[in-house]
Amino acid sequence: MIAILKHGTTPEQTQHLVKWLEHLNIGVHISEGEEVTVLGLIGDTSRIDMDLLSSLDIVETVKRVSEPFKQVNRKFHPLDTVIEIGDAKIGGGHFAMIAGPCSVESEEQIIGVAMAVKQAGANILRGGAFKPRTSPYAFQGMKDEGIKLLLKAKEATGLPIVTEIMNISTLDLFADVDVIQVGARNMQNFDLLKELGKTNKPILLKRGLANTLQELLMSAEYILSEGNENVILCERGIRTFETVTRNTLDLSAVPALHELSHLPVVVDPSHATGKAKLVPSMAFAATAAGADGIMVEVHNNPACALCDGAQSLTPEQFAALHRKVMQIREVIL
Ligand code: PEP
Ligand code: MN
Repeated sequence: MIAILKHGTTPEQTQHLVKWLEHLNIGVHISEGEEVTVLGLIGDTSRIDMDLLSSLDIVETVKRVSEPFKQVNRKFHPLDTVIEIGDAKIGGGHFAMIAGPCSVESEEQIIGVAMAVKQAGANILRGGAFKPRTSPYAFQGMKDEGIKLLLKAKEATGLPIVTEIMNISTLDLFADVDVIQVGARNMQNFDLLKELGKTNKPILLKRGLANTLQELLMSAEYILSEGNENVILCERGIRTFETVTRNTLDLSAVPALHELSHLPVVVDPSHATGKAKLVPSMAFAATAAGADGIMVEVHNNPACALCDGAQSLTPEQFAALHRKVMQIREVIL
């Protein structure tokens, strides 16, 4: 349920109403816009007498929110959420360019790629330390050693880092990580989502291989419902009958998610296509569609990458992509 307050309501009047609602065991999320204040009411709202609430002097309207996702809903929070990640910001007109290898492979590799993508304009470094691989015989990532190397790359370049968590038991290793990624395969690992909701780390939540946007938003809701409002949604392609591309990039997810939710939306054209040649076009299209950021896999030697070499750009290709993405941003702003 949401209550829109009348223009001119004082902070004291708002607080008075919030206290009354909290007394009824209702959580209140206050969203202050320039024109109106929206109160998002969370919990068992059947306890609230809608007619009584509507009749209050300071209340403009009261509406039930029919969607099952509440706190991620734009109706609860009309303004875009802006998330700060080191010196970078994402959402509400701030754009993030996230780049780096699929996996951390060595100190030389991650620092080399980090320097190159920074030089090319990236403002966040990615790199997998814990890798969810389809085959148990494939490279599983450098794990805690990989995180240490990412932290070295962060120190060397000043770039904030994003890396994937697969199991909550490793959370302590992520203390100095700037953004924790939940990969497509874990989008509905609800216990993991709940625990991440108890942290204050930004979470990059990737859409599952065969999940709807509503399911993605419900997964984000798990994180917000535990108190962590710093969630970035990521469209990374979904499984369809098409086999030319690794997945099918659902670009309409960008405007659709923006309409449904206030959370920033990032597009990952690397996992969506699986082919380096297709990555730039999809990055441009995603930028034009209004994405708040792009996440691209970049490797200093894609042919020798231990994971996802076929979809990795060289630093030079990434630099060209970055230049054009920035030009597209200028046009659409
Ligand atoms: C990744 O970003 O490294 C990754 C494994 O992606 P996804 O979870 O989207 O497959
Ligand atoms: Mn990858």
